[in-house]
Amino acid sequence: MTAALDASHAPGLRSWVASANAAAADFPIQNLPYGRFRRAARPGLAENSEPWRIGVAIGDQILDLAAAPLSGWPADLAPAFTALAAGDLAAVMAAPKAIRQQLRRSLSAALAQGSRQQTALAGCLVAQADAEMALPCTVRDYTDFYTGIHHATTVGKLFRPDNPLLPNYKWVPIGYHGRASSIVVSGTALHRPLGQTRLPGTEAPSFGPCQRLDCELELGALVGPGNALGETVPMAQAEDRLFGLTLLNDWSARDLQAWEYQPLGPFLAKSFGTTLSAWVVTMEALAPFRSPFLRPADDPQPLPYLDSAANRASGAIDITLELWLQSSTMLAAGTPPVRLSQSNFNQAYWTLAQLLTHHASNGCNLQTGDLLGTGTQSGPDAGQGGSLLELSAGGKSPIALPDGEQRTFLADGDTLILRGFCERPGAARIGFGDCAGTVLPARR
Ligand code: MN
Repeated sequence: MTAALDASHAPGLRSWVASANAAAADFPIQNLPYGRFRRAARPGLAENSEPWRIGVAIGDQILDLAAAPLSGWPADLAPAFTALAAGDLAAVMAAPKAIRQQLRRSLSAALAQGSRQQTALAGCLVAQADAEMALPCTVRDYTDFYTGIHHATTVGKLFRPDNPLLPNYKWVPIGYHGRASSIVVSGTALHRPLGQTRLPGTEAPSFGPCQRLDCELELGALVGPGNALGETVPMAQAEDRLFGLTLLNDWSARDLQAWEYQPLGPFLAKSFGTTLSAWVVTMEALAPFRSPFLRPADDPQPLPYLDSAANRASGAIDITLELWLQSSTMLAAGTPPVRLSQSNFNQAYWTLAQLLTHHASNGCNLQTGDLLGTGTQSGPDAGQGGSLLELSAGGKSPIALPDGEQRTFLADGDTLILRGFCERPGAARIGFGDCAGTVLPARR
């Protein structure tokens, strides 16, 4: 199931793009994530008419695949490079795993020190600082799962002190159908939503700006090859259907959510915006960071359709996830963002393969570019909450910011940043890049 390691993962591999060789770089040559970008408009020009194009992040640069010569690549990758040059990442996402692996190896060889393609490609680099990013592909459907058992337990206690974890949790990957139209790329500011809430102790609800605006620290998995309606995806094939991961901030209006969520789950408390990081880290890039999927012995083991030897051996992924915040006051004072929490995706109660297999188990057709959110990833300890709801104990214990401010929930002007990276002895560190968004005041 897990992609075998090859020369593209070698920790000693170096790129002719010097910035890719820095020790803390998110995008060393071992990563090679895909994104959709164009050169940012020059100051004074109102419209940017440059078409969006596909690029690969390398160090602080982007290899522009619309500008790169189509010659020089292996002949059987010609359709893939032609699609990428035309700005179509979905065609590559839908391609069989073997093609995607071969693409990675070719890009790695082209960007490695000593490459014969260096001269041809050196003029095809765009500084990330000079680029604006779009979503990497059209997201047609979005499902958000709930795999963070520590999040589910802590939040469940706030809503239901006696019965935090509902009885289905350990048997079925819980999810709800999210809203695809309001998914935005990192860097997009979002307005505080308006909505209906009911204050404790009052009889009737009122309508107005959300007072308990929150974030959720998640990963988003983008589906590669889809499945036909009525067709299921066994565990043995699930990983091959995944293209890659981004960071995902599931912005959440907790006061709206508390009032609206029963009996059908989240609706307007979530659908006003979801932010994705701009670069898709491929499943192949994550191969060195796989971990065993472990269930406590006294927990129910997954039903057979959600179980496989490969999933037990390496279904989990060791990804450190972090929540950072910079208030407008901090920004004005030059105070850098402060880290609020850190967790790891290897604590998730269900693996990505289980999410995909479960999603298709009723015959639901997943399509290329569909997004599967993992749910909030929180650790078991107090400083490991993946949302402010957890970090502030439901708004009861404020979080201190460096310049003397306090937060229970997000204030207007706050910039929330998710970060993620993989680190392991014997492998090159890779990162996801920032997933950032700033809160604008509510529209009146
Ligand atoms: Mn969520």
